Amino acid sequence: MDSEPLVHELSSPGRRGVRPPLPQFQAVDPADALPASEIRADLRLPEVSEIDVMRHFLRLSHRNHSVDTAMYPLGSCTMKYNPKVNEVTARTPGLADIHPYQAEDTVQGALALIFELEALLAEITGFSAVSTQPSAGSQGELVGLLAILAWHESRGQTRTQVLVPDSAHGTNPATGSMSGLQVVNLPTAADGGIDLRDLDERLGPNAAALMLTLPSTLGLFERRIQQVVERVHASGALVYCDGANMNAMLGRVRPADLGIDVMHLNLHKTFSTPHGGGGPGAGALGVQPFLEAFLPGPRVVRRGGGYALADVSDDSIGRVHAHLGNFGNLVRAYTYIRSLGAAGLRAAADGAVLNANYLRARLADDYDLPYDRPCMHEVVFAGTRQRRQGVRTLDIAKRLIDFGIHPPTIYFPTIVDEALMIEPTETESRESLDRFVEVMRQIAREAATEPDTLKAAPVNAPVRRLDEATANRRPDVRLASEFGG
Ligand SMILES: *Cc1c(COP(=O)(O)O)cnc(C)c1O
Repeated sequence: MDSEPLVHELSSPGRRGVRPPLPQFQAVDPADALPASEIRADLRLPEVSEIDVMRHFLRLSHRNHSVDTAMYPLGSCTMKYNPKVNEVTARTPGLADIHPYQAEDTVQGALALIFELEALLAEITGFSAVSTQPSAGSQGELVGLLAILAWHESRGQTRTQVLVPDSAHGTNPATGSMSGLQVVNLPTAADGGIDLRDLDERLGPNAAALMLTLPSTLGLFERRIQQVVERVHASGALVYCDGANMNAMLGRVRPADLGIDVMHLNLHKTFSTPHGGGGPGAGALGVQPFLEAFLPGPRVVRRGGGYALADVSDDSIGRVHAHLGNFGNLVRAYTYIRSLGAAGLRAAADGAVLNANYLRARLADDYDLPYDRPCMHEVVFAGTRQRRQGVRTLDIAKRLIDFGIHPPTIYFPTIVDEALMIEPTETESRESLDRFVEVMRQIAREAATEPDTLKAAPVNAPVRRLDEATANRRPDVRLASEFGG
């Protein structure tokens, strides 16, 4: 692939994109109006025509991998296709062009949308109240733990620990320590679930909560969930559920029915708009009735035939967002839920689980399966056999780029050696899954017979192996500065 020059390198003196008419007034010499130190005499901006700029940036945009270009089986991230109708609704001028400081009576539609979305999410999860204020899954976790701590405090209790299984998402222990809690690690049992005896040992008067990723990052449902919830509650602690993987359970399980007390949803995963459309996310938080008073405010309520913002009780943990959340994401999630309906949401979950199990079955002869049982929406393989052939999981991931497929998540979960965490999502067709299987099988054959091919990969990409750590810590900005940028 040809390398794309910098826009400065396309520059040719005197070339212009737009030539505005000469001003009808007397030009002012900046030197008469500004001190010399404020005047940049030599800007060295690129001089390019409109079509040069257009083609330059369009070519660069084609180098982005996206869900819209090809398969993106990045485990834990739920990179499902984002239906374009979501974008149409999010861009509706009446929703896109409003301002958070507008008077309430001029934004009734937006308030209604938030109110209805919270009600829909409550219906899907079984919780009595949902707040769409948190801006990300991880912020939902923080709000959830703060609400749990506030509840303990309201009962005169100070609890200092949070129990986190080692199959939890990495944000869970991070959130635990951000909340000022001591994170107590729960090792995973041989079947991939929680070991009840370990749980009993660690549950004490200091445990504020168990933070459970359900399904776990091993792609497994916790089969002992009922015993787990009972034991946590018996010790006086609460159960927090990381519900970023709710896409595996839509219409099948309502987490509140399992006895879970608080749970966040990743609207930008489960309800499309993967990774926030490259920008902001939305981490809606659901709670049981006894925790409602602790939710952040203000809340959207029905008032006098319309909608209004209401202050919350003194128990509330306070605001966590300047306004009401990342509204564009809420519009997309609302559109997704309303366009699929209850049956459609359930079919999405069923399809996600079926697709992951299809890959599990079809790749089981070629890659090791550390937890060999039916999975949920994602399947975790291990590149241990290939490692013995001298190939690292990183090499397998890089080779996938040559076939135009985004690599899966690798080396995570950390409890699986050489982990390959694959989440196909329900939006991939049978044909696309079959192609992925063929490519993964070819890579397994290459690992056995020509490992050097894998170590050289990718060869069909604009760049080869990058030193990601150094690129991050010491970015090379030489070219930009050479051109005066
Ligand atoms: C993505 C994810 C998170 C974090 O969500 P962000 O919106 O990225 O902060 C937490 N837990 C799980 C299981 C996830 O997949």
